[in-house]
Amino acid sequence: VLGSGSKGNATLVTTPHLHLLIDAGLPPDELERRMDGTGASWKSLDAILLTHTHSDHVRKKCLAYCAANDVQFICHKRHAHSLSGRYLTKVEEAGLLRTYVEDEVIELKPAAATPKGAYAHTPLRIRPVALPHDADPTFGFHIDVHLKPSEEHPQSDERRLRLAYVADCGTANDALMKTLSDVDLLALEFNHDEEMELNSGRPDFLIERVLSDEGHLSNAQAAEVLSHVLKHNGNGGPKFLIQLHLSEECNTERLAYSAAQDVVKATSAQTKIFSSRQHQRGTIHVL
Ligand SMILES: [Zn+2]
Ligand SMILES: [Zn+2]
Repeated sequence: VLGSGSKGNATLVTTPHLHLLIDAGLPPDELERRMDGTGASWKSLDAILLTHTHSDHVRKKCLAYCAANDVQFICHKRHAHSLSGRYLTKVEEAGLLRTYVEDEVIELKPAAATPKGAYAHTPLRIRPVALPHDADPTFGFHIDVHLKPSEEHPQSDERRLRLAYVADCGTANDALMKTLSDVDLLALEFNHDEEMELNSGRPDFLIERVLSDEGHLSNAQAAEVLSHVLKHNGNGGPKFLIQLHLSEECNTERLAYSAAQDVVKATSAQTKIFSSRQHQRGTIHVL
């Protein structure tokens, strides 16, 4: 996670052949700095995948960087409509705008020139899942990575990895929880502690917004999602849980961690819990 929270969000997913950024809610040069050391950069990115159009998830200037660096910009049709303007036009003119539809798998293929190495070129399969949030429409993503041995390296292990990214979600329904239950890595919003939110002294409308079914997941709500995932995950639970979008005013890493840890402890899962940060890049997790 390159950054997460109400001041900007971006998460990098890399495979042997693809570099994908989920959201681009930080200035482009800041993104470049935070990608330094990950093996990815604006030059190497294949695509940016957008969850929703709130300004902490997309900076219009990043669209200009997409056009200049041959990076696909993948969003819902209605996102494209609300982002329309000269920067999106540049992306469109470069043939880099791609739109997705709820629940329809997006296949992201490696560029033909990408060296194969140990694994054959296989597309990332990304399924957008609608989330209740007050930027309609908002999506989470279930990402399926299938690594197959290349002809040159038939001895490589065939691997199937799944991850999910869910942030900016007012409430979690059964369908969403079911979608998340097979993942190896779950990146999930733990936005606020409800008590801290209620006593924050913020304007009433803001508190109501955050707590509403179209706002953000509290630690307790996210813990419930995690509990469901652990119960239904056949592989003993995800290897990693990454906590996203922690409120700087109404949450602490300790509270979010203990809400998740209590759930993990109650099972035999070995899920490791990590917090994402607003102002610095998080740990690189290798699956
Ligand atoms: Zn947000
Ligand atoms: Zn939002």
